[in-house]
Amino acid sequence: MLKRIDLSRDFQKHREEYLKAIEAVCEETAFSGGKYADQFDREFAEYVGVPYAAGVNNGTSALHCAMAALGVGPGDEVIVPANTYIATAWGVSYTGATPVFVDCTADTWEIDPDKIEEKITDKTKGIIGVHLYGQPFEFSKVKEIADRHGLFVVEDCAQAHGAGYEGRMAGSLGDIGCFSFYPGKNLYAFGEGGSVTCKTQEHFDTVTTMKNQGCHVRYYHDMIGYNYRLEGIQGAVLSVSLKYLPEWTARRREIGKQYLREIYNPLIIHQAHPDNTDPVFHLFVIQVENPEHFLAYMQEKGMECNRHYPVPCHLQKAYASLGYHEGDCPNAEKLAKHCVTLPLFPEMTADEVQLVIDACNDYTGE
Ligand SMILES: *Cc1c(COP(=O)(O)O)cnc(C)c1O
Repeated sequence: MLKRIDLSRDFQKHREEYLKAIEAVCEETAFSGGKYADQFDREFAEYVGVPYAAGVNNGTSALHCAMAALGVGPGDEVIVPANTYIATAWGVSYTGATPVFVDCTADTWEIDPDKIEEKITDKTKGIIGVHLYGQPFEFSKVKEIADRHGLFVVEDCAQAHGAGYEGRMAGSLGDIGCFSFYPGKNLYAFGEGGSVTCKTQEHFDTVTTMKNQGCHVRYYHDMIGYNYRLEGIQGAVLSVSLKYLPEWTARRREIGKQYLREIYNPLIIHQAHPDNTDPVFHLFVIQVENPEHFLAYMQEKGMECNRHYPVPCHLQKAYASLGYHEGDCPNAEKLAKHCVTLPLFPEMTADEVQLVIDACNDYTGE
């Protein structure tokens, strides 16, 4: 059975190097934050092309820290795409503010800039754009709207490590970038991890204090803080993985582009990838009429697929109190009804890629 994603292949390939990195952390007992976490922060900031990166314990915390650093609080509103992983909205809710959901476009499946302005009120503080599936959203248009209304733009880069937008790197475009290193993301920890990429010292200092129990100097607490530190072992593992990220990204792009070129079945709809973007194919999502039928068909052919995401954020039970209804974000709702994610990960063999392509082209929908 070909899995949707198989992390064990990477571990087996680089086993010695990973174990050596973990051992070094143990030798020095630099477990919580510390030398190895700090070193990864510097390397990751350089990779993204920003002056600062603050490692945190996961991507959800990264989003919470970003909202707090930008002054979001009770009574505020932040615009969030309806088509995203729910954690994009959690960061807003944790501060006591309200996420306001905006539909995606019919073709890129990313936030629709043309539907943002009608959602802006005098409570709106900013916009979180998500480079969902590794496909950069239309940043220039979103930024132009934000500037006109005095709003911040935060990038949720949890699925977009290394993605490019008009020659610039995801995470370096907006005011703050939020990354996740959850296992299965394009860059991943052996556990949980995340990072907040910042352009200003002020944002970086706030995030650093917030994630570290609210203190700069140990036992002196300047604000109500959180325990959101990145673990040393995760920092050390991530420093190893970061060296391979360009290679993994290149392979993801190769497979993604081959799928786009060679899967030509009219029953399968592809996401659009505009020319000014350089996606990283975190997830290869297609639309089919009947996803459950397609999943069973692929299973039969020896391939595991899954679905991102079966319920759009505005229709999740958790946000029932916000009063959204079916029909509020029709493109996101359609995607939720029809999406399927194909197997794609850097260690896939050429034969496995071909297997997926052939199965997709042979699909008759019956
Ligand atoms: C994974 C993910 C997150 C959350 O990251 P965690 O590390 O799992 O907390 C946030 N936003 C998006 C778009 C994600 O894919």
